[in-house]
Amino acid sequence: MSGRELLRASDSVGRLGGDEFAVVLSGLSSPDEATTVAEKIVDAVSTPINVDGHEFQIGCSIGIAVAPVHGTEPTQLLQRADVAMYVAKAGEASVAVYTPAADVARIARLALIGELRQAIVGEQLVLHYQPIIDLRTGELARVEALVRWNHPTRGLVMPDDFIPTAEQAGIIMPLTTWALRDALRQSRLWHSEGINIPVAVNISAQTLHDPRLVATVEEWYAGPTTPGPLELEITESAVLSDPDAAVVVLARLVAKGVRIAIDDFGTGYSSLAQLKRLPVHSVKVDKSFVAEMHTDRRDASIVQTVIHLSHTLGLDVVAEGVETEKAADHLTRLGCDYGQGWHFGVALPAVDMTAVLLNSAQSRDRDELESF
Ligand code: C2E
Ligand code: CA
Ligand code: CA
Repeated sequence: MSGRELLRASDSVGRLGGDEFAVVLSGLSSPDEATTVAEKIVDAVSTPINVDGHEFQIGCSIGIAVAPVHGTEPTQLLQRADVAMYVAKAGEASVAVYTPAADVARIARLALIGELRQAIVGEQLVLHYQPIIDLRTGELARVEALVRWNHPTRGLVMPDDFIPTAEQAGIIMPLTTWALRDALRQSRLWHSEGINIPVAVNISAQTLHDPRLVATVEEWYAGPTTPGPLELEITESAVLSDPDAAVVVLARLVAKGVRIAIDDFGTGYSSLAQLKRLPVHSVKVDKSFVAEMHTDRRDASIVQTVIHLSHTLGLDVVAEGVETEKAADHLTRLGCDYGQGWHFGVALPAVDMTAVLLNSAQSRDRDELESF
């Protein structure tokens, strides 16, 4: 059944623009009735369709505003239905009814997007660097660049509070480009100071398939001085949402000498076998498995299996969220290659990380001299 067939002759459907439609239902007595119709529309729209033998399925989110409770003016009703639609989009359900609380959240969200745009161009973002340790030698093997927002009034804001909004609002690409350039600038600076440490940068799903990513990396590598080695951390869902396109992009990056790590491994639905055909070097086991390893035998066996299979495929393994010595020892016994977490060190501003790197280089030199 098409969406139109669910409606009565007195109802109307109009296209507001792009992929947005408005449905006006008349003579309803409660928001619940509108919700029932909306749910039927969602079901009808999401019925798979067949085009030239290929099956397609689309989804939709519906926001509801009801007169006179939510307003009597058409523009106000439309705007409030729009607010509810964003609630539906962000949540689990496909249908949401307007509430004044959602309006407050929407205004806050719009303010955040505006401020974030400013932050990207206004030098309010800053990268902190967290060490990744070689579990066999205990040496600092590489660092991961993690973005923070130095907000003028809220202080240091962590990425979980703004990266998802940046992704939804379509401004993750400028943020990623900034992070990539800043990490490469720092890497070049370290390189010039004799510190040759690989730097890992996080890449969001949408960014992987944006041509500007490869362009930024290529442009940087074509520059006058070489930065140190670069690694890109990409979540498994980003790679597997379009594996054919991912192979092409990753191959171009790898050709430039970039290493690829699959981030948050285990949280998506992929198997390591699916990664086999991708030019990938590392797998980062998600911290949720590492944190529960001692108390949950299933988590311990997941970590063990990921280590084993990754090695079979020639990939090295990084365990995230290593918070205790016990966890570090356990991972080392399991043959895990690298560890990252509070046990080894939190993410630090570049100056502090420089001191740590110089220190670890000095102690390495000392060890080498002593063994000589
Ligand atoms: P992630 O890539 O999984 O990064 C690791 C997160 O775990 C970091 O949180 C780090 O501070 C935290 N962490 C480190 N050690 C431990 C530990 O022992 N225990 C626990 N529980 N957590 C630990 P952070 O810095 O808040 O970053 C959160 C997420 O934000 C990152 O998760 C990443 O997905 C995203 N993110 C950070 N920087 C960037 C960026 O420049 N670009 C993009 N696209 N995403 C970023
Ligand atoms: Ca990461
Ligand atoms: Ca991660």
